[in-house]
Amino acid sequence: MGETETRMREGVARVYRTDRIEVTWAPRRCIHAGECFGNAPEVFEPWARPWVRLDGADPDLVEATVRLCPSGALGFRRLDDGSGVDPAPG
Ligand code: SF4
Repeated sequence: MGETETRMREGVARVYRTDRIEVTWAPRRCIHAGECFGNAPEVFEPWARPWVRLDGADPDLVEATVRLCPSGALGFRRLDDGSGVDPAPG
C-alpha cells in the first residue's frame, strides 16, 4: 500500500492516497487554523513532507478530521465505500 503525493497544479491542490481513502488539500484555501493537526497529529504534520501521511491511518479518523476543516481546504473520497466530500471550489 503506497502513499502518494500528487501535485496536480502548482499551488492549487495536492492529493494524498491509500487504497482506502484519498485526501485533497487546496493550499490557497488553508487558513492554518489547525483543526486537522490538532485532531490527528499523526496524520496531519505540517512540518513533515509529505505533510499528510495516510499510511497506517484509520480512514474513519481521517474522514472525521477532514470534516472538521473550517476553510474547505480539505476534501476526501473513500475508496473503500465511495463516499466523499470535495474541497470547496476556489
Ligand atoms: S483544518 Fe483545514 S484550514 Fe485548518 S490547517 Fe488543516 S487544512 Fe488548513
